[in-house]
Amino acid sequence: MIKDNLEHIQKTIPEHVTLIAVSKTKPQSDILEAYKAGHRHFGENKVQEMVDKFDQLPKDIKWHMIGHLQRNKVKYMAHFVHLIHGVDSLKTLKEINKQAEKHNRVIQCLLQAKIAEEDSKFGLSFSDIESILSGEEISNFKNIAIVGLMGMATFTDDESQIEREFSSLKNAFDRLQQKHASLEILSMGMSGDYKIAIENGSTMVRIGSSIFGKRNYQ
Ligand SMILES: *Cc1c(COP(=O)(O)O)cnc(C)c1O
Repeated sequence: MIKDNLEHIQKTIPEHVTLIAVSKTKPQSDILEAYKAGHRHFGENKVQEMVDKFDQLPKDIKWHMIGHLQRNKVKYMAHFVHLIHGVDSLKTLKEINKQAEKHNRVIQCLLQAKIAEEDSKFGLSFSDIESILSGEEISNFKNIAIVGLMGMATFTDDESQIEREFSSLKNAFDRLQQKHASLEILSMGMSGDYKIAIENGSTMVRIGSSIFGKRNYQ
């Protein structure tokens, strides 16, 4: 099942787009099934859950932290996390830098942009992103690399709204990239909207339920 879903999705996305299999709430057996099918990029939104899975699963898995991040949890994943998607403050970048330094690593980060019209989504405005990238503080952080942007569209059936939100992020990304060449990744798109995201320039999609099935939250 999982293998078929993965293959199906992999076939529908272009080669330059990286597929993150979002395994939050799912058991290790599900991850192993995807792993055995050759998949290596997995996304989690809770640090503790990701740490537990990292400890028990094959070490060549690339773990993506896609959830909203609490600063005091950064230390638990600093030794292994592959990419942190949801960074939305300079304070958090500072903490990631500090923890990465302890492990002699450079941790890759994406800045999360707020593109959804609904209030509940976290993220920075485009001008905040611009000031972080151009600011002086960032140049002192030797143990992080800001490699792109991430965004989540409003949860809605209105495709034109989703399209509007993704394309606004793509426009900002293109503009920022001219000054900040280290920006390579544009992480946008989930099970319900990844096709629209790819049409609007996404290079990384985060897909959970279309691969692993619906999640049960207790
Ligand atoms: C859960 C989650 C996803 C995946 O959601 P699906 O709708 O199951 O594909 C993607 N991105 C983030 C940030 C998430 O929290």
